[in-house]
Amino acid sequence: MSASFRPSSRPAEQVASSLEYGRKLILQLVCGGYLLYLLAHRIALPGVQFNALGPELMTGYICTVTMLLSVIPTVHFKLLTYLLTLIFLPYSTFLLLASLKQQLLPLGYLAWSPMIVVLCFSILGWRLGGLVTGLLLLGLFTGLALFQPATPQQVNAWLAQGVMMVILTLVCALIARFVESRLQSGHEVSVQLAAARMDGLTGLMGRTASELYLNEGLHLAQRSQLPLSLLICDLDNFKAVNDRYGHPVGDAVLKAAARRLRRQTGGNGKVGRWGGEEFVVILPGVAKPEAMALAERMRKAIESNALAGLAVTASFGVAAYRTSDNMAELFERADQRLYEAKNSGRNMIRG
Ligand code: GH3
Ligand code: MG
Ligand code: MG
Repeated sequence: MSASFRPSSRPAEQVASSLEYGRKLILQLVCGGYLLYLLAHRIALPGVQFNALGPELMTGYICTVTMLLSVIPTVHFKLLTYLLTLIFLPYSTFLLLASLKQQLLPLGYLAWSPMIVVLCFSILGWRLGGLVTGLLLLGLFTGLALFQPATPQQVNAWLAQGVMMVILTLVCALIARFVESRLQSGHEVSVQLAAARMDGLTGLMGRTASELYLNEGLHLAQRSQLPLSLLICDLDNFKAVNDRYGHPVGDAVLKAAARRLRRQTGGNGKVGRWGGEEFVVILPGVAKPEAMALAERMRKAIESNALAGLAVTASFGVAAYRTSDNMAELFERADQRLYEAKNSGRNMIRG
């Protein structure tokens, strides 16, 4: 059994991770944008030196660390936003107080404002996020009114930077709202699609998802020469279960059979419900002898312990991928062998 193929994660997990990726991307854009701004400032005004512990470079350090942390897959977006909020809230309060005394907004604010917008939008949603940033801006301009600037130049500098912050905040808010709503609606559609592809009764892949997964496995087998096996499992005389005990009991048996097949398959592949009381077990990277052994373990696991309190058996057809097989051909061989197993008396495997 080859370990080089790992079945892809469940569709819902993939969707969630793409949402996480999108949010991280926004944060990276904001941080990257500020770092570029600092660089441009440095090139355009080489005479202006930033203090190593001043607000401009401090914000630059935070942006750099944020970008580095955000590329680590195990660092979740939520954790990043909490960390940044913990750093930014006390830091921005300190900057606000310091700047009120000097009558001049430090340049670092230009990054701080959009950063807070992105954080607020991600954590609080765009309405509350907009409110919080609006209040912060209001606080700044109230500061201007309370601390009378000494000279007209100081007033102009205050106003110029303040207006720039308002514009940046608005632009950032609009972009963040647009991107977040796009991400969210894309996420909802994908979750619905993923749910539609699941089998409602057993929680296994439904027929469409099974076909997609089998197709994926076939492509991999064609490209990489890795083996691929397919098992079709059909419960024996299942109609009699329904007839004798009723449909709800039949459903409980199907659920129990699905759980048992899934447990036996483990990480070697995936199980799907093809329809009715018929299941497929798709095993990328698994060669025929191992697939036969697995089918036999599954047959025994079903036969030896009651399913939902009833003694049930199942028959299996096994086929392995041959060069240039398409999905229909591979499926047809497995189905033919299932038919042989049924004709030979049921409760057996054929491959
Ligand atoms: P064989 O051993 O030849 O496979 O016989 P069988 O009775 O299992 O096969 P048959 O195809 O005649 O019957 C399948 C039955 O599966 C018929 C249908 O009532 C039942 N079935 C299909 N889907 C469901 C379901 O979702 N729930 C329940 N309870 N029964 C189902
Ligand atoms: Mg059957
Ligand atoms: Mg059947």
